[in-house]
Amino acid sequence: MKGTLEAIIDQVVELKRSNVDRLDFEEAAKLKDIEDALRRGPCCDFAALRQANITRAKEFNPHGVDMGLPFAVLELAGEVGELANALKKVIRHEHGIVGGSNDLQAVVDELADVIISADLVAMALNVDLADIVTRKFNATSEKHGLKTRFVCGAKGGDA
Ligand SMILES: [Mg+2]
Repeated sequence: MKGTLEAIIDQVVELKRSNVDRLDFEEAAKLKDIEDALRRGPCCDFAALRQANITRAKEFNPHGVDMGLPFAVLELAGEVGELANALKKVIRHEHGIVGGSNDLQAVVDELADVIISADLVAMALNVDLADIVTRKFNATSEKHGLKTRFVCGAKGGDA
């Protein structure tokens, strides 16, 4: 059985094949770009995120001031607040209340900031985000007797 990503790639390929006579060059190129992007997969994983956070931290903080765990947690809390605020505006919009916004991209962007900030907290704690997520996800599955587990990614239980 194919995974979701492979099924989506198949659909894109089929869409391109079945419309080959109707697509102009630009449309066909866009579908090819989508297919290529899907085949490449996400360009960011937790290891890449950590490296990017380390590199960018030197730009944000060129004097290397150790801001510590409390600052990282405050930063994460701030991003969670921004996520909630963006969603609040969408809910306002859905109910026709003044001050609303139909900007779901803002919600998505703030969710990304939450993940980025979560890695900064993990970095301050000197732990690997992939390891702790894997361990906790599996612990929760085990606690509730659920079968869904990560079977790779953990480093021998040393997280
Ligand atoms: Mg933000």
